Amino acid sequence: MSSNLTGQLFDLLQLPGNEKCADCESPNPEWASSSLGVFLCVNCVGIHRSLGVQCSITKSLALDRWTTEMYQLMESTGNTKANEKYTKNVPICWRKPDPNYNCPDFYMEEWIRAKYDRKEFMEGNSSMQIYCHGSKDGELMKKERQGNKWKPRYFRLSVETGSLSYFDKKEELTPIKRLDVRNMNIVLCSQEKTEKQNSMEIIAPEEREKRGKIKKSSRSIFVYASTAKEIVDWYLSIRSARLKVLELNPSDPMVGMILSTDRIKEGFLKKSGPKENDRYIQRWITIEPNSFAYYENKMDAVPKNEVALNSSPGYFVSEGTDGKHPDEPYQFLVSTPDRVFNFSASDESDMKHWMNAFKEAIKNEPLESNQFKRISVLSATSQLSQISVSSSDPSANS
Ligand SMILES: [Zn+2]
Repeated sequence: MSSNLTGQLFDLLQLPGNEKCADCESPNPEWASSSLGVFLCVNCVGIHRSLGVQCSITKSLALDRWTTEMYQLMESTGNTKANEKYTKNVPICWRKPDPNYNCPDFYMEEWIRAKYDRKEFMEGNSSMQIYCHGSKDGELMKKERQGNKWKPRYFRLSVETGSLSYFDKKEELTPIKRLDVRNMNIVLCSQEKTEKQNSMEIIAPEEREKRGKIKKSSRSIFVYASTAKEIVDWYLSIRSARLKVLELNPSDPMVGMILSTDRIKEGFLKKSGPKENDRYIQRWITIEPNSFAYYENKMDAVPKNEVALNSSPGYFVSEGTDGKHPDEPYQFLVSTPDRVFNFSASDESDMKHWMNAFKEAIKNEPLESNQFKRISVLSATSQLSQISVSSSDPSANS
């Protein structure tokens, strides 16, 4: 009976919706929640297991014992029906997690908890979505601008004033810094980047004086919270505040990307300077639609340089070298009309990944003429000399 049921369970995978994981859409799920009636991948089933049996009973399709009743629930529910129920009302501020694209484990976990444990997206439960207000305050640990120490700071997000401020202490009235949410970007961070769980990078334009000149660049502020829910609530609240303050149209298919822009890729890569005898030096590279930046270290407050990328003539990526480092393997060039950048990857596949990421960033139209113009703080600031920051221009909404 049991082996017969196993065969029937695998037959259910042929039905539309069941061919991919109910939560992350990875292909060929081999696990299931026998109480929720959904088919799952090996990663998501691990998260379901951590929710506890009162929320989800997890089983392997092939290895566990199935009863006829359990099979019948899988047959009558399945991924499509379950998702209609559990994700009926997902607010715009929730970016659906995609394991192929900047999705730290804690974000996937919070998505699954919100979906099945708290049932936040079920019909009638929208009052639970308090992050949709776009205002929030509380303590977060913040990394110092210089150095590696993290200190508690009191953060206050206000949709009324369109600002995110942080204070030395809750009672203080004057913030250490006040950021405009209109030209802010936020990125959830992996533990690999910040060495902290539940961390986030807030990126905002900054002007500072350097050798008597005003220099404009992006400023990264790193924070972490004690729980995954807390940092995800901050992330969703900031996205909600931007939705309201920028008066974006929720039905615009680009709106999710405008609320916050994930990086196409980031990591260490060797880069060499433009001079004849410049050597290759390890840099932390971040690539996003329309720009890339490089930093001396992965959690620096400001990049060494930010470079705009777009689909205009003169921007391209090519394998090989400009001849200065004939013995260096896996070299490639990123060309812009102003400068050619030399990079050296660690192996063939690393090189292909980086080249594809740069190509992805280049394929977009120039910032001035398309809807990407408000997406990226990095892009906006790197082009400040040519255009005003479009996020401060209300007519840019239309
Ligand atoms: Zn999954």
